[in-house]
Amino acid sequence: MKALVLESYKQFAYKDVPEPKIGSEEVLIQVKACGICGSDVHGMDGSTGRRIPPIIMGHEAAGVISSVGENVTGWQVGDAVTFDSTLYCGQCHFCRQGQINLCDNRRVLGVSCADYRQHGAMADYVAVPQHILYRLPTGLSFERAAMVEALSVAFHAVQRTPLALNSTAVVVGAGMIGLLVVQVLRYAGCRHIIAIDLDAKRLELARQLGATLTLKSDTDDMLAQVLPATDHRGADAAFEVVGITPTLNLAVHSVRKGGSVTLVGNLSPNAELPLQAVVTREITLYGSCASRLEYPACLDLIARGQVNVDALMSQVAPLATGAEWFARLHRSEPGLMKVILTP
Ligand SMILES: [Zn+2]
Ligand SMILES: [Zn+2]
Repeated sequence: MKALVLESYKQFAYKDVPEPKIGSEEVLIQVKACGICGSDVHGMDGSTGRRIPPIIMGHEAAGVISSVGENVTGWQVGDAVTFDSTLYCGQCHFCRQGQINLCDNRRVLGVSCADYRQHGAMADYVAVPQHILYRLPTGLSFERAAMVEALSVAFHAVQRTPLALNSTAVVVGAGMIGLLVVQVLRYAGCRHIIAIDLDAKRLELARQLGATLTLKSDTDDMLAQVLPATDHRGADAAFEVVGITPTLNLAVHSVRKGGSVTLVGNLSPNAELPLQAVVTREITLYGSCASRLEYPACLDLIARGQVNVDALMSQVAPLATGAEWFARLHRSEPGLMKVILTP
């Protein structure tokens, strides 16, 4: 089969590799669409240590089952499916409580790090265990289905956060995940959603997708603009979708006393925390990582058009041209968001 292989940092080859062999509990999927994730772009230059070459990346995919292992039940050749980006064991303490994103034996598809190498879906075929499969709603395109992984990250972050109906929320960072958080917040019944970013184009998109107020973060004193929009108390909740000290600070200071900050971004491994503000204002911090069995709800939101993923898809391109798209994403080409590769 053909695959897009990261052969050394920033160096790809689109080439023939052996088809994956499936185990008795696995299915082989003919990949129809696979998104390029920000973590792939940050990984391919070696900066995260999570894409050690050689590796076939790709954990945001959808396709058709082309063969099934002998112990697979309930799935047939020809089924249109997507799958969790997390391979979880189902047996450990955390899996048994449904916290599959915290699995002790967690592997992410298309990731290679010190502990493991798990080839992903930027190839004609990928093998995955049956317990991470999800059926596509009738009529949902493979390209849209490939957006479910990103949506599930946003969905999980909102699920983690206590939000009464008609709450106010601040979203710091209007990239892919931030724009999906905005949409899920709107669906969850937020009255006021304030999106903050450096990029005017992304803010324009945030407004189209449900933000009620957008603020450009390089202008003036941010808090002076957030507070009047939140009854001078601060928002009920903030979402930090960047992961550096200044944005963490802004998120903490933009919530009311007793509010919560949900941390999704983790660009830098360490950031300074305004400790006194968190303690004296009794702010609750939630970490949020990947998602936890939330694909069915997210597929439904996409299929019913409750979340607009088309607005975030910049390009659908052949897998053979993947190297070029990685390079363009790595240069942070303006306006370029999700690129979906089709084998
Ligand atoms: Zn991803
Ligand atoms: Zn587990």
